[in-house]
Amino acid sequence: MKSARLVEFGAPLQFEEKSDPIPKGTEVLLEVMACGVCHSDLHLRDGYYQMGKGEKLFVKDRGVKLPLTPGHEVVGRVLQVGPDAKDISLGEVKLVYPWIGCGDCEECEDGTPQLCSAPKSLGIYQDGGYSDRILVPHPKWLLDTHGLAPEYACSYACAGLTAYGALKKSLPLSKKDYLLIIGAGGLGMFAAQILPLMTDAQVIFADLDEGRLAKIRELGFQTVNSSEGDVSDAVRKFSGPKGVSSVIDFVNNSATSSLAFSLLKKNGRMISVGLFGGELKIPTPILSLRSLTVRGSYTGSPSELAELLKIVSEKKLLPIPVQVKSMKEADSILNDLSSGKVLGRVVLSDLRI
Ligand code: NAD
Ligand code: ZN
Repeated sequence: MKSARLVEFGAPLQFEEKSDPIPKGTEVLLEVMACGVCHSDLHLRDGYYQMGKGEKLFVKDRGVKLPLTPGHEVVGRVLQVGPDAKDISLGEVKLVYPWIGCGDCEECEDGTPQLCSAPKSLGIYQDGGYSDRILVPHPKWLLDTHGLAPEYACSYACAGLTAYGALKKSLPLSKKDYLLIIGAGGLGMFAAQILPLMTDAQVIFADLDEGRLAKIRELGFQTVNSSEGDVSDAVRKFSGPKGVSSVIDFVNNSATSSLAFSLLKKNGRMISVGLFGGELKIPTPILSLRSLTVRGSYTGSPSELAELLKIVSEKKLLPIPVQVKSMKEADSILNDLSSGKVLGRVVLSDLRI
């Protein structure tokens, strides 16, 4: 088993080779075929989230233990199964649902393990897919890929699912409503792919990068470059002076969240998704007087992921831009994400080191 591992926060990943784990009980060992690189892996390597005013929320205080193999967007082929793993056969190709919970709490019992307070997510609290092998605790976390190519299917486990969950929370929206989406990176591209199936609202994307915005315009959406001029004015040129009905913030730092809040029209909804970090100051009377909703959104449930994969395969949606790279490049890809050089998603597919 060869893996790229996080051994020290803030330091480059290190390669490690050891013998393959042998699945016990209900465990399933998969050969990793593709693993998406998420911006959250970068926050994990940093070891903290920005909380505003220079304060940090350290991932070690949230239960992350090193060394750890990152990677939570995984498609793999079943190599070996534990003696109690049922309804799974060797050779099957599956998408891993990584947002595993404790299995005992109300959220886990309700089918929303992503909201469990004692999470065991793969690639965050347990070893993930920056490896040629991944050990999954139970076959129930393995989903049908509906024949999608591994390098396109894998990122639905996080980027696709998160975009889907956030879009659902931004609804209902009618044809005359405006939806602003901040961030046209991995999550934003998935939102652009899925949203025509979910709403006919008028959509504006904002990002700092002209290349990503050009790709978004090709898909037929309006764009605003956040690095130029007054962003609020630029958005209102499309939406009119009252602002937008919903905002999804895939960046969610101090600047984007206060922009998002200031652009909400009465009864508007703001969905905070990104983990770039910062803080948002809200005068409380404004929330009531303008009847606003501010809420967060974290990934999605196994049933939502299964539902999403089915929709994507049935509607034959055009894939988002994907660059396939080798695991040897994992660390430099994280650096590229940090400096905003990635268009769409980078997927590790050659897992040799
Ligand atoms: P990414 O690096 O692929 O994309 C980020 C995009 O935001 C880039 O296009 C960048 O140019 C743009 N951007 C950065 N600062 C901006 C600003 N001030 N104004 C406008 N655009 C700006 O990242 P990603 O993988 O799409 O992830 C986005 C964020 O969402 C990360 O913080 C990630 O950790 C987080 N995330 C959250 C969840 C969740 O469930 N809540 C799930 C996955 C990822
Ligand atoms: Zn992710």
